[in-house]
Amino acid sequence: MHDFRYVGKKLFCEGVAVETLAKKFGTPLYIYSQRTLTDHFQKLDRALAPLDHLVCFAMKSNSNLSVLRTIANLGGSFDVVSAGELQRVIAAGGDPRKCVFAGVAKTEAEIEFALRKGIYSFNAESEPELQRINKIAARLKKFAPVAVRVNPGVDAYTHAKITTGTYENKFGIAFEKIEGVYARASKLKNLRLRGLQMHIGSQVTKTSPFEEAVKKVSPLVRQLAEKFELEFFSIGGGLGIVYEPALASGSNSWWKSAAAKNILTPQKYADRLVPLLKPLGLKILLEPGRFISGNAGILVTRVEFVKRTGKKNFVIVDAAMNDLIRPAFYDAYHEIVPLTKKAGAMIASDVVGGICESGDYFAKDRPLPKVGEGDLLALMSAGAYGSVQSSNYNARPLAAEILVNGKKYAVARERQPVKEIWRGEKIVAWLK
Ligand SMILES: *Cc1c(COP(=O)(O)O)cnc(C)c1O
Repeated sequence: MHDFRYVGKKLFCEGVAVETLAKKFGTPLYIYSQRTLTDHFQKLDRALAPLDHLVCFAMKSNSNLSVLRTIANLGGSFDVVSAGELQRVIAAGGDPRKCVFAGVAKTEAEIEFALRKGIYSFNAESEPELQRINKIAARLKKFAPVAVRVNPGVDAYTHAKITTGTYENKFGIAFEKIEGVYARASKLKNLRLRGLQMHIGSQVTKTSPFEEAVKKVSPLVRQLAEKFELEFFSIGGGLGIVYEPALASGSNSWWKSAAAKNILTPQKYADRLVPLLKPLGLKILLEPGRFISGNAGILVTRVEFVKRTGKKNFVIVDAAMNDLIRPAFYDAYHEIVPLTKKAGAMIASDVVGGICESGDYFAKDRPLPKVGEGDLLALMSAGAYGSVQSSNYNARPLAAEILVNGKKYAVARERQPVKEIWRGEKIVAWLK
């Protein structure tokens, strides 16, 4: 379910016409629905109600302060991957003592910062990292709560750039090695072994890889929990969403039919996993990112030109890969719809940005209604891994972000003033 739909001919986000926002705030423009964020968080949270659990939103998917505050207000917590993200949590009014800290390359400064802020757990990805955390904790006269990320060696059947649970990846420690790692870590005096963590990949669209991983790791968790008095087992994130047809998936009836089909829903996920997890008697942590934020956001863009080359119909828009890199980076699909519904024949079109890269495209040979200069389009499902990966390539300012709640809306991030792009840069003295 999400809250982007046509009312008559106009695309709405909740109670607000998207066109109103595009006219008022300009384009490219990210728009987030608070109700969708809330609904997705609560669907998961409620499905897992039979477990003692904590939903830690993977904020690398969308770290806008208003998005974080929405999650924090719902009782959610955060999976952070840098000290910068932890500072964002604090800036958004979240509680660092409920956060987990993931990532393969935590620096000494990051570990110290997180320890001082009372992080709930470091999810460590190597033995040198455990030693580093121990050393810093000793220096600060603290005990560092840690979990080790187990690489369960299962295939998540997702895109190569977002699969993480096989031994081809840089993530975690191989399943077979974990016991030895815990035995050695237990001798490091300033560590407190608090849990075990895993994450098999992203945009996983079936329950079976999750089930397989939980089944494989559960006996190990049970054994480690007993030996080292662990408190939690984190089963990671990775729940996939529907990108196609994104718009139709906003309706209730679509979800009813999804439940019957081979589509991942929180209820199916919980139905399969709760019976496996409940007997462990541990607190269960979840780290969903995309599932919560993905369908809660769109990127609105304006058509600048339509260019026909004889072979192709290029729709050239004012958003580009610096605003949304997913198609270029992961061959990702985003449904593209006009803000004003159009009748008439569809034309196979390439929707492209203005950046000097052939990779700068949003869609290829996509059937689109006939559009012209000034028409406004929405790239659906752009709430996760969208704005967070944006850059200033080609000296393009970062897009503005709007949060909608019912009929209310407000700027959640101002459009970046152009001069901010080179703030901090200098013409070195000998050039003057
Ligand atoms: C990226 C990431 C997540 C979130 O992945 P989604 O596919 O967005 O749910 C969760 N845990 C870890 C460790 C991650 O790196």
